[in-house]
Amino acid sequence: MPRCSGVKRDNSQCERIVGESNAYCFAHDPLRKAERSANASKAGKSKQSQAIGDLHALKEKLIKLGDDLVAGKAHRGNAAVAATCYGMAIKATEAEVKVRELQESRLVETQLRVQEQTEIISRMEQLEERLALDKKSEGRRSPWGA
Ligand SMILES: [Zn+2]
Repeated sequence: MPRCSGVKRDNSQCERIVGESNAYCFAHDPLRKAERSANASKAGKSKQSQAIGDLHALKEKLIKLGDDLVAGKAHRGNAAVAATCYGMAIKATEAEVKVRELQESRLVETQLRVQEQTEIISRMEQLEERLALDKKSEGRRSPWGA
């Protein structure tokens, strides 16, 4: 079966099976690059920008808290507790972003696996058709099964 002509990140050749009309698998086809990044970003774009907004807001709060503290407008104990809370919220938001990135990369992997399976199935169907044709022509050549 034909293999993808693409090169993986470690510089070895891609092992994915491609259809007869394709030189590249979905991951390496230069013509499908835009489609790939659209698929990858569609999933988490709005949530991702929301997370960035959250992180920005939390940073602003921490800066304001520090300013208030320096200006004598905030109680030391309260400011310390608030800073801890904001810090934990930042960590939680960062964790969410990481989880989402992992989910997106899994999504791309799944798409690749589905595409590869579809190609294998179509190759198998072609082979089966070819076998069926061979059987028929064999039958014509020796109608008495000799
Ligand atoms: Zn490939």
